[in-house]
Amino acid sequence: MADAESAAVLPWLAAPLRRALETQTAHALLLHGPGGVGQFELAVLLAQGWLCESTTVPLGERPCGACASCRLVAAHSHPDLLVLLPEALREGLGWAAESEDGGEEKAGKKKPSKDIRVEEVRAAIALALTTSSRGRGKAIVIHPAERMNAIATNAFLKTLEEPAGDARFLLCTAAPDALAPTIRSRCQAIALALPPTEVAVAWLRGHGVAEPEVLLAGCGGQPQDVLALVDLGVDSAAWRAFPGRVANGDVAALRGWPLPLAADALQKLCHDAASMAAGAEPRYFAATALPRRGAELGALVRWAKALRRFAEFAEHPWNAELSIESLVEQGREALQTPRSPQRGGGVQSLHSRR
Ligand SMILES: [Zn+2]
Repeated sequence: MADAESAAVLPWLAAPLRRALETQTAHALLLHGPGGVGQFELAVLLAQGWLCESTTVPLGERPCGACASCRLVAAHSHPDLLVLLPEALREGLGWAAESEDGGEEKAGKKKPSKDIRVEEVRAAIALALTTSSRGRGKAIVIHPAERMNAIATNAFLKTLEEPAGDARFLLCTAAPDALAPTIRSRCQAIALALPPTEVAVAWLRGHGVAEPEVLLAGCGGQPQDVLALVDLGVDSAAWRAFPGRVANGDVAALRGWPLPLAADALQKLCHDAASMAAGAEPRYFAATALPRRGAELGALVRWAKALRRFAEFAEHPWNAELSIESLVEQGREALQTPRSPQRGGGVQSLHSRR
């Protein structure tokens, strides 16, 4: 399956994968790091490596990708591997539910859940207690682990406290603080860092992304997030033009963007404008792409507050159009506020603005 293949070729995962295969014996691992760097893919690769039945490939170089077990993992049908994902993430990660419990979901028109359901956690616990089908133990991947609710977490905690059978758990998260401390303390942690820029840039170029540096900066160095942006039709030219369009109050710059993403992009712009106003380097946009007039910190702080409020509710899209419009309008005001004369904007520019 193409998705499994693409998961296998995140080049920056090779080193942590090898290290984990060679050194980790814990029955529960917590893979954490910034979003968009491949925690889930690493978890699946590790599980595949543990389950791999190759007789020739050494442990640190697994999964071999060719044995019966590896092929079953790639086909998402390995009897000893269970992958728990919220319904809302399955398709994007290439793990859409097929015949098993798909009937119910297809019949209803409910929005896909963003939580890992407690029934699925219970099923995972039940699997953990059974004997492995192919004799290499069992692996259970939970991504993102913080999407288990309190009931599911409690059910799961008992299994972590009293490990039974030969199951190993792989919990993935980009927000370890959102996990119950009792869960964290029972897992061996594996930290994933951002990939080196040149590795990420080469990988993105391999995926046909033009000027990958621009979008990679825009995504804070997280290459998988870049592909998500590109999928939405945002290319490097659009990203570069974004600050100028917001400064001109052009709401169309955000048309078609999911609200959380729109909120995120505006927050990044606000962050960079504040950095520039404070004399620091921008992080997500090139300095040359930011409005040259500079901005006034007070207006930026007000805008930042409104953006934070909006981001909290960005997943509940009531009155969406209006909210985005008002945020862009606030952005326009903040970005077009001239610097005070002593900061170097000059009296001239104050008068020539309108
Ligand atoms: Zn194999």
